[in-house]
Amino acid sequence: MKPREKLPWEIIWQHDGHVTDVVLTSMADGEEAIVPEVALDHVGGCDSCSRRLGDAALLSIRVDDHIVAAAAQARAARPRFPWAAVMVALTVAGLGMIPTLLRAPAWLAATSATLVQGLPLYVRSGALMARTLPQGLQGTLLVSSFVSAFVLTLTGYGIARAMTRSRSLQEGGTR
Ligand SMILES: [Zn+2]
Repeated sequence: MKPREKLPWEIIWQHDGHVTDVVLTSMADGEEAIVPEVALDHVGGCDSCSRRLGDAALLSIRVDDHIVAAAAQARAARPRFPWAAVMVALTVAGLGMIPTLLRAPAWLAATSATLVQGLPLYVRSGALMARTLPQGLQGTLLVSSFVSAFVLTLTGYGIARAMTRSRSLQEGGTR
C-alpha cells in the first residue's frame, strides 16, 4: 500500500519552534499517519505542545458531538409522512372514479381502456397531493403518487373483472 502523503514541512512548524495547529488537529483527529515523525516526536517531548494537543483533542470531541447532535436534530425536524393527506387523496380519487365506472360499463370489458380512462384521475390525485403536501417532500410525493396510481389501477382492474363476470352471467341467462 502506498504510504499516505505527509504534511509539508513548511506548515508543521511555527516560528517559535513548536508545531502548528494543523499538526495538533491532525493528531487529535487520529490522522497521525500524515504527520512527519519528527513532529510527532516533538509533541511527545514538549509540554506546551502536549497541552495544546489535549485542547485540540477536546475540541475535536466537542465538534464530533455537535455533528452528532446536529444530525439528530435534522432527523427530528424532518417532516413526517402525511398519511392523513394521502388517505384523503386516495379516497377522493377512488370516489371520483365511481361516476365514470357507472356511466360507461361498455369499456369495463377492456381492462386497457379502464387504465387509460383512469389516467386523468392519477394526474388529478397527484395534483391534489402536490397541494396538500408540505414543501420539500418531492420524494414522498412521487412515491405516494405511484402508490395511488397502483391502488387505483388495481381497483379499476378488480371492478372491471367483477362487472365483466356479472355481465356475461346475465347475458348467458337471458339468451
Ligand atoms: Zn512544542
